[in-house]
Amino acid sequence: MTKILLVEDEESIRKFVRINLEMEDYKVFEAESGEDGIKIAAEEKPDIAILDVMLPGIDGFQLCKFLRENYKGIGIIMLTAKSQDMDKIMGLEYGTDDYMTKPFNPKELILRVKSLERRLELKSDEKTDNLLEFPPFKIDTYQRRFYKDDVEIDLTPTEYMIVKIFMENPGKALKRDEILNLIWGYDYIGDSKIVDVNMRRVRSKIETEPAKPEFIETVWGVGYRWKSRP
Ligand code: CA
Repeated sequence: MTKILLVEDEESIRKFVRINLEMEDYKVFEAESGEDGIKIAAEEKPDIAILDVMLPGIDGFQLCKFLRENYKGIGIIMLTAKSQDMDKIMGLEYGTDDYMTKPFNPKELILRVKSLERRLELKSDEKTDNLLEFPPFKIDTYQRRFYKDDVEIDLTPTEYMIVKIFMENPGKALKRDEILNLIWGYDYIGDSKIVDVNMRRVRSKIETEPAKPEFIETVWGVGYRWKSRP
């Protein structure tokens, strides 16, 4: 059963989201503040966190940063009511896997959660070790680990999926929409900027000079291409 930590100070929204998630058989842990969220995360080790941005005490951004640093592999969806927050989510690169603006349709949130859940699946379909090598990189799709020069690089679930999709399509220019569909799902209603934010994060982790990418090149007007060959 997928465990979800829901941090939202507004009780009505919290209850409403909880009911909708529970109807889909998720185990939900509610927190009213970031501080509570940190405590519950330590006790319950949730798979996914849904975080409101505006919280009393530490805000959703700080909480996102904390969870990202302390719980490798957790999936994070941010909830926001303001367009300024959206810019912040997009610009500051906290490692959010997805976001939703309030008010939102609970069905849409469930779709986001399910899409994220697919990215989180711990074991892939492959039953044996499956190693793809593109020097200096190596990806183990069974263990979901990624290495550069044999040093493991920590990737968020979304970043891991991006790298995997590129390694499976070497040399191919992938369109932003294609990446969006492959990772966030065909029914994604949102901004393809989420792709660029995550691409920037991936580059900052795998490139020596992210401003002059050697491995993932931008194909102007199209999207991105993985340059390395197996
Ligand atoms: Ca709030």
